[in-house]
Formats: sequence, structure tokens, C-alpha cells
Amino acid sequence: MALDRPRALSGIQPTAGSFHLGNYLGAVRQYVALQETHDAFYMVVDLHAITIPQDPQELRANTRVAVAQLLAAGLDPDRCTLFVQSHVPEHAQLAWVMNCLTGFGEASRMTQFKDKSTKQGADRTTVGLFTYPVLQVADILLYQASQVPVGEDQRQHIELTRDLAERFNSRFGHAFTVPSAHIVKETGKIYDLQDPSIKMSKSASTPKGIISLLDEPKVSAKKIKSAVTDLETVVRFDEESKPGVSNLLTIYATLTGVSIAELERKYEGKGYGALKTDLADVMLDWVAPFRARTQEYLDDPETLDNILAKGAEKARTVAAETLALAYDKVGLLPAKH
Ligand code: ATP
Ligand code: MG
Repeated sequence: MALDRPRALSGIQPTAGSFHLGNYLGAVRQYVALQETHDAFYMVVDLHAITIPQDPQELRANTRVAVAQLLAAGLDPDRCTLFVQSHVPEHAQLAWVMNCLTGFGEASRMTQFKDKSTKQGADRTTVGLFTYPVLQVADILLYQASQVPVGEDQRQHIELTRDLAERFNSRFGHAFTVPSAHIVKETGKIYDLQDPSIKMSKSASTPKGIISLLDEPKVSAKKIKSAVTDLETVVRFDEESKPGVSNLLTIYATLTGVSIAELERKYEGKGYGALKTDLADVMLDWVAPFRARTQEYLDDPETLDNILAKGAEKARTVAAETLALAYDKVGLLPAKH
């Protein structure tokens, strides 16, 4: 791993057993690509997963399932650093410092928090959920990341990260790289199959609206076939007036490498049925080997845990250095060793 490469960092939550198609197309595909050009750090963000109620046993199991899926998608522990967030205590430690630099009003403007807290109801919303964007700021800044591959829904959090990094640097002296969001325009927001006005989401989609990568392929095929489209029958990419069909075309094009223009020609005069049937087959071809590879990693938890142990060790080296610098800059007295 060349140290002169720019750093990239991202994280994914183990809040569900399976990643969904939006996670893969919007984020994980970019993780795989960036490990070739960047010194990349990727983590399963279990500390973020407890901002909403969790079952402890499920969370532990889902954390391994998330790691297995990242490996199955193509992350290579020899080319990137793969770890679990809670194995690196510096995340929570730097988050506290950043919390003390974040305005209450500033945090209140985060739309993901507003959406998630509205869904939960005010009495079930925790302070942890309120400050999770600040934990995310710490996640990124600890690694001096310059690129953060994420979906469109995370843009505001990356903006917050930039603001806080600049605020810290100008108040206390330079400590942090100011990062940029790496969002792929075409796939940065994959939509819910039943409601193409909202993003596909682990926590907000209805079961019929979400393609879970580890589901039985038959189940996913059925969901694609019953995806909401529109009353026209013309297969045409038009996000404004045909969001459902456009979403299907984006998924199809990205999984196959065939351009959207070519797909429009292919389905000229054929209607939505043919498009959906073929896309269901495309999904099946992609998902079957992915599921098999994920299962192979899950069948060998020792190897998985060894990968995570090595990853955490590498991550801690970098994180500890940044945390020490930040502690020093804000004026915390160093402990004598
Ligand atoms: P939750 O709804 O619980 O927040 P999620 O589906 O958003 O779950 P996360 O683990 O929060 O999943 O997100 C992991 C990555 O996937 C993030 O980079 C996020 O931006 C990206 N992502 C999530 N949903 C989509 C989507 N529908 N389209 C593109 N990218 C997405
Ligand atoms: Mg999310």
C-alpha cells in the first residue's frame, strides 16, 4: 500500500442483515474502485448502528455479515484497511472533541436526523442519534481522508465535516485534511421500487421497495417485476416524469455496463414487462455469486476475525496519531508515560 496515495474513508452500518442494492451501487462499488487508487479505509460502523434500538445478538451477527458482504463485493484486505468501528476507540474520543465544536443549531439542521427522528417519534429519539453526524465527522477526520465515497444522502454530512475541519484548523492550528464527498452522479441515489420519490433505505423502505442482496433471488425478481412505473409504456430515461422506469434503467445499466441509450433502443416498442423480466435475470446473475461468496466468508469466521484484527491494528496506528494531535491542539494535558 503506497503511503503517498491520497486517503479514502467510508463506512456502512450493520443495521440490517443484508446490504441493499442502493448501498452497493451508491457506495460499495466505489469502495472497490478506490482501493486501487487510494490508501483506503473502510469500516462497519457498529457505533452508528446503536443510534436506533438494536438487538445485541443480531447486531453482533450482522456486523460479521456486513464484513463478509464487503469482501464478497470485492474489497481486498491486502489493498485496503477493513475494520469494525468499535475496535478503534479513537472514533468515540475524537467525536467528543468535535461535539464541543458543533453548534446545537448546526446539528439540528441535519436532514437525516430530522427524517430518522420523525420516524421514531420524539420520545424514542436519543441524543446519540442527534450527534451521530458528528461521530461521522470524527470517523473521517481521524484518517485524514481526502475522498469519502458515499451516496447522495450523505452530502450534507460531508459538508458538516468540511466545516468542522476548517473551524478546528483555523481555531487551533492545522490538524485535519478537509475532505470531499465522492458521489457518483448516476448511482448516488437509487430509489425505492414501490415509491420512486424516496431513496431505497435499510430502515425506511417497505420490504417490497427494497432489493436486499442476500435475499433469495426469486424474491428479488418478484420485487423488480412489481416495481412501480407509470401509465405510459415507453421505456425512456426521464427522472422527472418517469422516476420508476429511470431507476430500473440506472440499475440495469450499472450492473451490465450497457449504456442507457442502448437500453432505450433495445426496449423500443417492447414495454415495461420485457425490461423488468430481463432486469430480473440480470439481478439473478449478479446476486447468485455474491451470495455464495458471502456465505463462504461467513462459514470461516476465524479468517474473518483475523482480517478485522489486522485492519483494526492498522487503523489504530493512523487514528491514534490524529487523536493525539487534536488533543494537543485543543490544550488537553498529555498523560505522562
Ligand atoms: P439507514 O436507512 O438505516 O440509514 P442506509 O440504507 O442509508 O441505512 P447506510 O449504512 O446508512 O445504509 O449507508 C451506507 C452507504 O450507502 C452510504 O454511503 C449511503 O450514502 C449509501 N446509500 C444508502 N442508500 C442509498 C441509496 N438508496 N442509493 C445510493 N446510495 C445509498
Ligand atoms: Mg443511511
